[in-house]
Amino acid sequence: LCVAAQDFDFFYFVQQWPASYCDTRRSCCYPTTGKPDEDFSIHGLWPNYKNGKWPQNCDKESSLDESEFSDLISTMEKNWPSLACPSSDGLRFWSHEWLKHGTCSALNQHAYFQTALDFKTKSNLLQNLKNAGIKPRNGEHYSVESIKKAIEEGVGHTPFIECNVDSQGNHQLYQVYLCVDSSASKFIDCPIFPHGRKCGSKIEFPPFSSNDNHAEF
Ligand code: 5GP
Ligand code: 5GP
Ligand code: 5GP
Repeated sequence: LCVAAQDFDFFYFVQQWPASYCDTRRSCCYPTTGKPDEDFSIHGLWPNYKNGKWPQNCDKESSLDESEFSDLISTMEKNWPSLACPSSDGLRFWSHEWLKHGTCSALNQHAYFQTALDFKTKSNLLQNLKNAGIKPRNGEHYSVESIKKAIEEGVGHTPFIECNVDSQGNHQLYQVYLCVDSSASKFIDCPIFPHGRKCGSKIEFPPFSSNDNHAEF
């Protein structure tokens, strides 16, 4: 019997900025467990090859089994909320991430989710940005370079910054990619950055607190 080896080179650990997911033309829906905190949240932990390609859906027989990670669910609701519509409790998103990416990770479900939660804590993105004076604020523009530098100073490795566009056409911080070694033990320098998804040189970092009247439809 051949157990699949770690057939990939590193992970992208991807975190999203919820306000930037929500203020696009497409809008969003808050989770059934309530509006998320104003903090980065986990998108996923994605096995990747050094040439930029990646494996996905590595076990077509797998299915999400809540009983394997029941001790993590409340922490995941807080740190890995799903903002897609319609509103959900997260299970659908976690299942998608597990089946598409987690099944290629050589980790079991509990380890996969636990590892992602641990790397979110370790990356401490919002605090690292605040330490450099970079705070979520309407109308303020930050250079992508200053954002990268602030994260690099805290994490020790340069992130990839992905932007999207809000309903008014402003480019804004959407996702932060950090790289993790294939045994999921530490952050590393990224062997390759994702293609496309570039930002302008100055971007917004929108707040997620007031006048959000677009969710829960
Ligand atoms: P999007 O088109 O929104 O950038 O990506 C759609 C999906 O493709 C992501 O949610 C993710 O599952 C997968 N994906 C996109 N880019 C990458 C990548 O560079 N590496 C890996 N492993 N998956 C990716
Ligand atoms: P990917 O395939 O890019 O890893 O994951 C994106 C998929 O997860 C999409 O099908 C998207 O609709 C779903 N999804 C559910 N909740 C969220 C969320 O909060 N953020 C993102 N980016 N995708 C979500
Ligand atoms: P997916 O294949 O993930 O459903 O959707 C593709 C892209 O659309 C992803 O990049 C994801 O971030 C985005 N997306 C999916 N669902 C939603 C949604 O409800 N609201 C917003 N703003 N973006 C979404």
